[in-house]
Amino acid sequence: MYYFVPYVPTPYPVVREMLRLAGAGEGDVVYDLGCGDGRILIVAVKEFNVRKAVGVERDSERIKEARRRISEEGIEDRAIVVQGDFFEVDISEATIVTLFLLTSVNEMLRPKLERELRNGARVVSHEFRIPGWKHEKTAEVKDENNLTHIIYLYIKGKHM
Ligand code: SAM
Repeated sequence: MYYFVPYVPTPYPVVREMLRLAGAGEGDVVYDLGCGDGRILIVAVKEFNVRKAVGVERDSERIKEARRRISEEGIEDRAIVVQGDFFEVDISEATIVTLFLLTSVNEMLRPKLERELRNGARVVSHEFRIPGWKHEKTAEVKDENNLTHIIYLYIKGKHM
C-alpha cells in the first residue's frame, strides 16, 4: 500500500509532552512509527530513561540521519532504527507507540494496534486522532514559534 506522508519533525516541546502524557519511564519500550530523524527515540532514552526505543522508517535519508544522531548520542544499545514499512513490523513488545502521521493512516493502523498491542499500552498521536478510538486525555503544547499543537493519548483496552 502506498500513500504519502511528508516528513515534518515534531517540535521538541511537543516530543517531551507526548512522552510525559504517556507516562514514559524506565520499564517502557517506545515504538515511533515513521521515526524521521529519530528525535522521539533520543528524547525517550536520554530524558525519560526508557528501556528501549525503536523507530521504523521507510525513507533511507531519514534512516541515515536517525542512525547518525543515535550514534552521536552514544545510545545505540537502547535506540534502534528499523528500515521498512511499519505495517510489516511486529510492534507487540511496545508499551508506548508514538505517531505523527495523518488521520487516514491512523485509521489504517488501527486494526494492527488492536491486534498487536497488549492491554495498558499507550498510544500518543501528535495532531491526528485515531478514528473510532476514544482518547483518554488530550494536551495542548506551544512550540518555539508559538504555534499550538494537540496531542491525543489512548490506552489500549480503554480505547472503545
Ligand atoms: N515521528 C517523527 C516525528 O514526530 O518527528 C517523524 C514524523 S513525519 C510527519 C512521518 C514520517 O513517517 C516520515 O518520515 C515518513 O517517511 C514516515 N512514514 C510514513 N509512512 C510510513 C510507513 N508505512 N513505514 C515507515 N515509515 C513511514
